[in-house]
Amino acid sequence: MRPVGIFGGTFDPVHFGHLRPALEVTENLGLEELRLIPGRVPPHRAAPGAAPEARLQMLRLAVAQQPGFLIDEREMQREGPSFSVDTLRSLRSELGADRPLCLIVGADAFLGLGSWHCWEEIPRLAHIVVTHRPGWELEPHTVAGAEDAIALLDRARLGSREQLASAPAGGVWLEAVTQLEISATDIRRRQRTGRNIRFLLPDAVRRYIDDNGLYGP
Ligand code: ATP
Repeated sequence: MRPVGIFGGTFDPVHFGHLRPALEVTENLGLEELRLIPGRVPPHRAAPGAAPEARLQMLRLAVAQQPGFLIDEREMQREGPSFSVDTLRSLRSELGADRPLCLIVGADAFLGLGSWHCWEEIPRLAHIVVTHRPGWELEPHTVAGAEDAIALLDRARLGSREQLASAPAGGVWLEAVTQLEISATDIRRRQRTGRNIRFLLPDAVRRYIDDNGLYGP
């Protein structure tokens, strides 16, 4: 059974550092579909710069032309903080016990896994696919607070991509993707200071930001 990819984020705004790795994972792992799941209230960080509806709209503009990418609004519809474990529980009950689920996270997010709500349940619900992100090395294991994530990596690291499709959950897979040193924080800062953000994110998203005066001074 082909795996379903799950890619959560604040997407404030969505940019090529999200989209290009997501496409490469989709291709390399032969995903059935990739669900982009924008969070309403991110549990780990300050309030987003753009309203939930604007972040959703930017995501829609970004993936409109990409078959296999779909936007899953369940976190937007749920009240309270967006915990990944709740999202995975509801996807698991919807997609069935046997479907391989792949939670896709950048290396920075993966290293913080030990601080996520009920994190130990996550590998029971899904595989974790970790994509490289510039500036974040998984080895040597030097990031403070990353002990739980690294222990999970040591324990559950898969030896081949095929193993992802042969079990519904439980493995950790490292996927080397094109490294793009782009962050939403940097895009918001450039926009705030009147710099050009072109070529960091899709043009349609850039136009939406300008037309709606997002991330301004
Ligand atoms: P911010 O700068 O506002 O913190 P961000 O650019 O890190 O935002 P998020 O929406 O917080 O984006 O990230 C969602 C997911 O995308 C996380 O798993 C994160 O690791 C991953 N990600 C974001 N940017 C990149 C990138 N340039 N390369 C690889 N992964 C990325």
